[in-house]
Amino acid sequence: MDKRTFLRTSALAAGGILAGSQYGLSSVGSVSEVDFRMYPLPFSFDALEPYIDAATMAVHYQKHYAGYTAKFNEAVAKNGLTGKPAEEILRQSSKWGDAIRNQGGGYYNHTFFWQTLAPAGAYKPSERLLTALSNGFGSMENFEEAFTKAALGVFGSGWAWLTEEKGSLAIVATPNQDNPLMDVADHKGKPLLGLDVWEHAYYLKYQNRRAEYIKAFLQLVNWDKVEANLFG
Ligand code: MN
Repeated sequence: MDKRTFLRTSALAAGGILAGSQYGLSSVGSVSEVDFRMYPLPFSFDALEPYIDAATMAVHYQKHYAGYTAKFNEAVAKNGLTGKPAEEILRQSSKWGDAIRNQGGGYYNHTFFWQTLAPAGAYKPSERLLTALSNGFGSMENFEEAFTKAALGVFGSGWAWLTEEKGSLAIVATPNQDNPLMDVADHKGKPLLGLDVWEHAYYLKYQNRRAEYIKAFLQLVNWDKVEANLFG
């Protein structure tokens, strides 16, 4: 990554973090004419090349994510949930029906996902995070192996997650746009890292080679964000 790309990435990332409460990911209620806005991607579409290609990022962000965001806002209005944070809504997803579960999950999961991605080599796990991952899984290598296995094991569309619950780290998978915050999830916890394994996330470049996409993703993790999710 050249210096200019890094500076632009850093500046955008800082802007995104400061504006975080608009995106429903904190406990602060959102204030806007629509409840939830698209999180500004903290890097350019081509910033993750060659691991994730620009065409995939563009369609993923501009089409899929835009669709979830618009439909979530519609469902929020329809269910009288305007003003509530996304996390609060999703924690009670069983109360609100499929539109909130699917579109709200799609909104939340992608908003979360963009923030844990970064250009290759931009971040390395800190000693503190490495220690936590080693305590949880034996070693960083074991963590990557277990995460890869979970992501490969998702049948059809879904997500793999690193979560924390009562001080313990876990790797879990969720179908469709479910996530570990939802009361409908089999394994609940606080999301620290999530990987989208829907085909739309990788098919243009990797076709059916999901394992290669997972390996590529592990080059692109914003470990500072994962650490903030764990300890913040
Ligand atoms: Mn997706």
